[in-house]
Amino acid sequence: MAKVLIIEDEVSILRMLEYDLKQLDYTVDTETDGLRGLKKATTTDYDIILLDLMLPSMNGLDVCKKLRSANVTAYVIMLTAMDDEYNKIEGFEAGADDYVTKPFSPRELTARMKAALRRHKRSDADESTLTYDDIILKRDSYEVFRNEVPIPLTLKEFELLEYLILNRGKALSREQLLSTLWGYSYDGDTRVVDVHIFKLREKLDPSQERIKTVRGIGYKLL
Ligand code: CA
Repeated sequence: MAKVLIIEDEVSILRMLEYDLKQLDYTVDTETDGLRGLKKATTTDYDIILLDLMLPSMNGLDVCKKLRSANVTAYVIMLTAMDDEYNKIEGFEAGADDYVTKPFSPRELTARMKAALRRHKRSDADESTLTYDDIILKRDSYEVFRNEVPIPLTLKEFELLEYLILNRGKALSREQLLSTLWGYSYDGDTRVVDVHIFKLREKLDPSQERIKTVRGIGYKLL
């Protein structure tokens, strides 16, 4: 069963989440402090990390950045109290995959967690390896290699790259990418897509020779 780490200093929320997730058969670990949470997240393999924004000793954004620079690819959902656009984008820039705003319904959160985990399970009909130039995507293990060197991508970055490769040569609109890969609209905030394209380019295409911006529309993989 999926393994979840909850890093949250509001004990009432922490206990509620822990209880709900255990009811759903998740294996759950908890921390109430940023630094301790970071340590646990980098030393244990989790499928999903629920990460509060405001935490003692290190805030959630910094924890997330450090996780990503330590190549932790778990699905990170930020628990935020501020429905602030700036923070939202900042969260994605820090490497978060999703967010919920407090107060949230546990049902909404677990629905998103299930959706994230479901994407990990593929049908046998899918080709298990995708190749694009010197890049190889292993769709079963969610690994990406360039010239046989592993490139650590988050789940969302992986899905974005996979979608671009499957649709190579086509101009894909930001709206299309947002609805396909995130499944619901962030108030139509397509900057989410831009942030993830930026991260993909950083990791795989720094000279922007492959992932092209299509003015007024979105992106295209050559
Ligand atoms: Ca907090």
